[in-house]
Parts: sequence; structure tokens; C-alpha cells
Amino acid sequence: MSNKQLDWSNLGFGYIRTEKRYVSNFKNGAWDEGGLNEDANIVLNECAGVFQYAQTVFEGLKAYRTEDGRIVTFRPDLNASRMAESAKRLEMPVFPEDKFIEAVEAVVAANADFVPPYGSGATMYLRPYMFGSNPVIGVKPATEYQFRIFVTPVGPYFKGGAKPLTLRVCDFDRAAPRGTGHIKAGLNYAMSLHAIVDAHNQGYDENMYLDSATRTKVEETGGANFIFITKDGKLVTPKSDTILPSITRRSLCYVAKEYLGMEVEEREILLDEVKDFAECGLCGTAAVISPVGKIVDHGKEICFPSGMQEMGSITRKLYDTLTGIQMGRIEAPAGWIHEINVK
Ligand SMILES: *Cc1c(COP(=O)(O)O)cnc(C)c1O
Repeated sequence: MSNKQLDWSNLGFGYIRTEKRYVSNFKNGAWDEGGLNEDANIVLNECAGVFQYAQTVFEGLKAYRTEDGRIVTFRPDLNASRMAESAKRLEMPVFPEDKFIEAVEAVVAANADFVPPYGSGATMYLRPYMFGSNPVIGVKPATEYQFRIFVTPVGPYFKGGAKPLTLRVCDFDRAAPRGTGHIKAGLNYAMSLHAIVDAHNQGYDENMYLDSATRTKVEETGGANFIFITKDGKLVTPKSDTILPSITRRSLCYVAKEYLGMEVEEREILLDEVKDFAECGLCGTAAVISPVGKIVDHGKEICFPSGMQEMGSITRKLYDTLTGIQMGRIEAPAGWIHEINVK
């Protein structure tokens, strides 16, 4: 399939099989050479560690086509180091960070035809992941692992543009066991599925999770961090070591400070003070920023002045600046843009 056969402007956020994926195996204490292949299926033993004790971690990042036709990725070194942290927490071997970058380069270059054109609204999503692959029946870490990256072209995360979302304050805890909320692991998502389905059934787009110890502080949603804008134009974002350290959020905080001259505060945020903010957004790789119009706390509505019509004006500036950097329209800070050489 060549890029001409895909209808870029009507892509959803789903899986489309592409030609090549990167695979490397860990055995006898070492990673093999690794390389690309064309087999999208994985055959594993019925007792593989990933099936029995959910030993699996993942990452998510994107490749973009710039206005002048180059293909770039955004801060892949941060995905490499975050994946290393996730792996350590689940007693998995770390996939070397330099090899992670090489794998990103190889898999994007090999599927360059699937990187959507500049201006189409679509991008290429990369999914690096790793799992325990040998049989494990006693509760212990696997001794063999597989690291993979596949790529899939995706449309805008929210179809029909960034319509503000309605959230509810959620009574479930997001992370399964305490202390795993800050890693990108399948177990946290598995434990969030029930809460997401339940929220959707009740007419909400997403859940706002609170800290499980006191249930008074804002954490994050199922797959995105919060940013808030105060009435005097400050960016405020929750400080917590049980939320996933979003690369988008770190980048937005930098953009706010260094490009837009805003004050930025990372601090504990009480649910009680959310009603005083002017704008609210969810940030992550998939959507960059999704505006939030309303949060419902057990029947009590918190409505943001930017309302349900469109992004608030400061959120919009942050969004435009960061996406401008990612797409090569605005000069990036050193090291943020990693160009892919397509031979
Ligand atoms: C991936 C993810 C985010 C967003 O992180 P980015 O690095 O910005 O994509 C936020 N929260 C959770 C739980 C995540 O898994």
C-alpha cells in the first residue's frame, strides 16, 4: 500500500497495519541485534509472563511531516527514558535508550509512505512496547522479553476538532497497585477501563481522578494530564508522583514560560479550587491539548468561562505554539526535534 491509497483527512484514531515493525528479543541476560520484519502477529507460549501477570509496558509518540517535507519525531529521548523507568518498576530489563532511538529511526524510515502529508491533520503514531515472553507460573518476573515498535497513521484524536469535553469526578482509583500510577504500563489502563466505560455510559467523556489517599487533590484523567489557566493568566498543573509524567505537559510548561512569557506553577491542586480557574485542558501525545468545558462533581457542575464552544484563548495559544514547533513552523528548543533520515 502506498500513501496515495489512504484517505488522510478521514482517518480515525485506530490501528492500520503498516509494512514494517521493529522487534528485539531479550534472552540469557542480553538483547539481540533487533531489526525490522513484516509479521504483524506475535506467537507466544500460553504461559507467557505477559498473559499471566501482565508484565508489559508501553510508550506513545508521533512522527510528523513538516511543511518542507521532512519527517521528524518529537523528543523521542524522553520516551526512551520514561520507558526505562516503567520497565524498572515492573522488574523488566531496560531496553537501551540509544537503541530505542535507533529503533524509532528505523521503523519510521521503513514506513515513510505512511507518514501523513503536512496539513492533513493526520500524523503517524508510534507504539513502542515490551512484554515478558517466556512461560512463568510462579509469581516472579519473566526471564525473556520482547521489545517492539509498530507505527500506524492516525487522524485527529477528537473528530470534528477540539470540542470541549465534559468530565466527571471519578470514585474509582486510576492506578491498580499504589505506586504504579507514574509508569506507562498496561495494568494501569486495564484498571481504568471499567471507569471509562462507566463514565461513557453516564454521558461523560472522561474521568477526573483524585488522589487515592485523601480524595481531595486533582490527579489526571485515564490517559492525559491536566493543565489549568488561572484568571490572571498563569498555567497551573498538578504536582504528584502518582500521575504519569506527560512529555506534552513538560513541553507545554516550557512553551508557556519561554515562548509566551507566562508564569507556570506545578503544585498540589485541590478539587475545591478548580471552580476558580479560567480554562482547563487535558494534555497528551494523542491530542496535544483537549479543552475541558465542564467537570461534574457528584451532581455539582463546574463550568469554565471558555465554555463548551471552543478552546479558551490561552489554551489555544499554547496549542498553536507547541503544534507549530512539532510541525516545524516555529523554531524548536535545542534537542526537541529529531529528524528521521529516509534513504
Ligand atoms: C501517555 C499518558 C499521558 C500523556 O503523556 P504524553 O507523554 O504527553 O503523551 C498522561 N497520562 C497517562 C496515564 C498516560 O498514559
